[in-house]
Amino acid sequence: SASLFTAIEMAPRDPILGITEAFNADKNPAKINLGVGVYYDNNGKVPLLDCVKKAEAILMEKGAPRTYLPIDGLAAYDKAVQELVFGAGSAVINEKRAITAQAIGGTGALKLGADFLQRFAPGAQVWISDPSWENHRALFESAGFTVNNYPYYDPSTRGVNFSGMLGALQTMPSGSIVLLHACCHNPTGADLSAAQWLEVIQVVTERGLVPFLDMAYQGFGDGIEADGKVVRQFADAGGPLFVSNSFSKSFSLYGERVGALSIVAVSAEEAARLLSQLKRVIRTNYSNPPMHGGQVVAMALATPELRQLWEDELAGMRVRIREMRQLLVAKLKEKAPAHDFDFVIQQRGMFSYSGLTKEQVSRLASEYSIYAVDTGRICVAALNSTNIDKVVEAISKVL
Ligand code: PLP
Repeated sequence: SASLFTAIEMAPRDPILGITEAFNADKNPAKINLGVGVYYDNNGKVPLLDCVKKAEAILMEKGAPRTYLPIDGLAAYDKAVQELVFGAGSAVINEKRAITAQAIGGTGALKLGADFLQRFAPGAQVWISDPSWENHRALFESAGFTVNNYPYYDPSTRGVNFSGMLGALQTMPSGSIVLLHACCHNPTGADLSAAQWLEVIQVVTERGLVPFLDMAYQGFGDGIEADGKVVRQFADAGGPLFVSNSFSKSFSLYGERVGALSIVAVSAEEAARLLSQLKRVIRTNYSNPPMHGGQVVAMALATPELRQLWEDELAGMRVRIREMRQLLVAKLKEKAPAHDFDFVIQQRGMFSYSGLTKEQVSRLASEYSIYAVDTGRICVAALNSTNIDKVVEAISKVL
């Protein structure tokens, strides 16, 4: 019989989760999943960082009651995040022009920003890179925006189509919201050069566009400072500026959902108004964020010994990914000398647009039980010294 829900259709499957399902169903014990979006260590495991274990031990010892956090999150967390993102002693912090609210991961930060913008800039349209993290479009559309693409990836150079990107920025209406990946572009791994960023900042500023920087991989590119540099340069260019950041990857705290949204205003007075309104968005959505992940990250960032440990552990993840890039390219050079994979070394972050076609990806799965995204995106952090030879062998066979 008919119900209220009779006409509701099945939603489309998440493409990445679809890979995981196919991978899980594969009975080959030697199967390899390169379609994931998480960092695996050399043993193929998601690490629990020592800095996290130590912070958790201290918190456990304290045995603090589980009160509600403030609407915008733990104050010590927001402060530590602000200093990480904008730099301790930076002008925007000293002048109290930056506001930061703890968020439910990077996704939650993006959604807060999107909901906030929908409230106060409802007529604006959003522009995301082509391609982009697949949730960007859905998330801004669900907040009520029309979402467009600006040119980004150039398959012929396997780099950024910079003239295309700049040209698009130059024709967007003033007030358009431009989503930019601060570092380690997902899914391509192709980042802008320092000189290109300066040009982007200039155009965005001159044309009165609203930059929204998504920084989900700080520390996975060239280092914590280097990766965050573009955020500081945008902040120095004035406001408004939106920054979402995530500790899912950099602290290997995926399931704790720790991220933050920061907004840079033109004055302290404006910042106070923005924060009061941002709190309303949070209050009417989930009231206030969870405690645990924020406490762990705040403690790790603010305790010198734990901070050092975190920076070392993050460097370890970054270096391992780099080594896997080098090794992949060197081994492919031996097995498939006719093909040039040097671009993989230039790419930054966890991912590589490998250049593999949909058909090649499909053969990798059906013939070798190696799973990747249709677009050819592979997670370099899923490679390790045990599986890399099998991956190289299989790739050389499907090329
Ligand atoms: N932004 C980008 C570009 C991402 O790749 C991701 C995660 O994969 C996120 C945001 C979301 O991060 P979180 O898992 O913290 O919600």
